Amino acid sequence: MKRQVDLAEISDGRRYGANDMVKADCGGCEGCSSCCEGMGKSVILDPYDVQELAKGLSLTFEQLLASVLELNVADGLILPNLKMAGEQERCGFLDGQGRCRVHPFRPGFCRMFPLGRIYEGDGFWYFLQVQECRRQNRGKVKVRKWIGVPEFSRYEKFVLAWHGFLKKWQGQVCGEPDGELARSVCMRILKEFYLRPFDGGRDFYGQFEERVREFG
Ligand code: SF4
Ligand code: SF4
Repeated sequence: MKRQVDLAEISDGRRYGANDMVKADCGGCEGCSSCCEGMGKSVILDPYDVQELAKGLSLTFEQLLASVLELNVADGLILPNLKMAGEQERCGFLDGQGRCRVHPFRPGFCRMFPLGRIYEGDGFWYFLQVQECRRQNRGKVKVRKWIGVPEFSRYEKFVLAWHGFLKKWQGQVCGEPDGELARSVCMRILKEFYLRPFDGGRDFYGQFEERVREFG
């Protein structure tokens, strides 16, 4: 989701790449789950996130939508996000002890936190959100290790491609957000990248690239 923010106010002023060390390591978040509550609609899931959750929990996208995810409009397109439920607006994956039940396959936004991404030119950087994490004295960790997704270069290439894909289609539908084109694009994106399962026996990134090509 696009955010209009002054980076100088919310970050330490530095841009980080995959191999940079950053003070993001919260030491296992012992006793804290504050960034898993009250996040509104902001934890948006990409197709990699959804296929990881679906695989890890042996659930379909529809089953996830019936419980822990919801659909909302983000910059003109309909995309899934983690549902914050109840009075405390807690993520449905939090257990009674405030721990994440899907930690090994949690979504990319959760993996990054308290880092964020800023897209510039043909690429992106990471930045450290200084007001978001309550943990004091966080340790230094390499960005790629903190995020912890295998085949990290391929993952970053996918993140950039997905961002470019969404930006392209957001641009196409922005003039007429309630029109026929917008409806049809939104439905096709949901169908091709979320509802239609990725084949767990094949490379995810290859399948993603095929679907982007087919989408037009
Ligand atoms: S998926 Fe896990 S880490 Fe992410 S908000 Fe939910 S409980 Fe927290
Ligand atoms: S606010 Fe920081 S310490 Fe607390 S759960 Fe989130 S990342 Fe962990």
